[in-house]
Amino acid sequence: MKAAVLESYNNFVWKDVSDPVVQPGEVLVRIKFASICGTDMHIFPGDFHPRTPIPFIPGHEMGGVIEDISAGVERFNIGDKVAIDPIIWCNECPACKRGHYPACSGLKLLGVDMDGGFAELISVKPFMLFKAANHIPDEHVALVEIYGIGFHANNRVGTKQGDTLAIWGAGRVGQAILQAARIKTDRPIFIVDPLENRLKIASENYKNVITINPKKENPVEVIKTHTNGKGVDIAFEAVGHAEEIKGVYTPIRSCIQSLRGGGKVCVLGLSDHPAPIVFKELIWKEAQIVTSRVSHGEFAEVIDHLNIGSLKPDALISKIMYGSQIQEAFELVQKHKEKYLKVLLDFR
Ligand SMILES: [Zn+2]
Ligand SMILES: [Zn+2]
Repeated sequence: MKAAVLESYNNFVWKDVSDPVVQPGEVLVRIKFASICGTDMHIFPGDFHPRTPIPFIPGHEMGGVIEDISAGVERFNIGDKVAIDPIIWCNECPACKRGHYPACSGLKLLGVDMDGGFAELISVKPFMLFKAANHIPDEHVALVEIYGIGFHANNRVGTKQGDTLAIWGAGRVGQAILQAARIKTDRPIFIVDPLENRLKIASENYKNVITINPKKENPVEVIKTHTNGKGVDIAFEAVGHAEEIKGVYTPIRSCIQSLRGGGKVCVLGLSDHPAPIVFKELIWKEAQIVTSRVSHGEFAEVIDHLNIGSLKPDALISKIMYGSQIQEAFELVQKHKEKYLKVLLDFR
């Protein structure tokens, strides 16, 4: 098969490699589309070394069609359209023993801890596969993983009808949170980002979305004004890094300040740097900070919504390129981060 091999950091080679060996109990999937993630953009220059040694095949957001099934595997048939959940729990650590799988201390990801889906074929365990209806376009199946993150975040804080929300960050994760949230509540959703084109994607696709550019206005003040001083029920922090904006507090502190009493902040942004908060601001509201990592069974929920057309996957797709153009695709996203949400790779 052909695969996109990261032969040295910053250097993909589209080449022939041996087909994956289908181990007993595994299922062989022919990849149709895979999506480039922020994590891949860190693997590319070597930020994940030595977790991702080279040569290496990344790719953890992908969908395809079942090509072969080893003996004894039930539930699936050759020709089934499937999304692949890249997460492998250890099943042994204290978190796994309590069923809290996203907190698994031995969590491994296809395409991060082992070769992934930027290839024509991949062999996986059937528990990683989620069947998608045939009418769902292959391109959209490759977005199930990122949607899973958005649904999981909403499930962590229990977003429900009547909730007013604020989302810091209108990138890939912020947009996935928005799309999932819009299904759950029709009340106003504020979305904060310094990049106008990202705000535009949010407001063009959804009603009752109030966009805020923190370089132009103070998000907390805008939210307070629109909610008669009350604040939002839930605020999501999906920024991760905090570019300092003059006169505006860090995203996480702004999230706390924009809450109503008893509200919740959900933090997803992965940063290695401390994010200062003032606990008094949290305590006075007796508010909660909840975190959200990866997803936990939300693939099925996402596929149900793709099936009935309640999501807008095309709003997330900025560009589609061939698998063989992977080097060009990565360089493009690296160079113009602000321009692209999801770039898909076509492996058909
Ligand atoms: Zn990802
Ligand atoms: Zn575990």
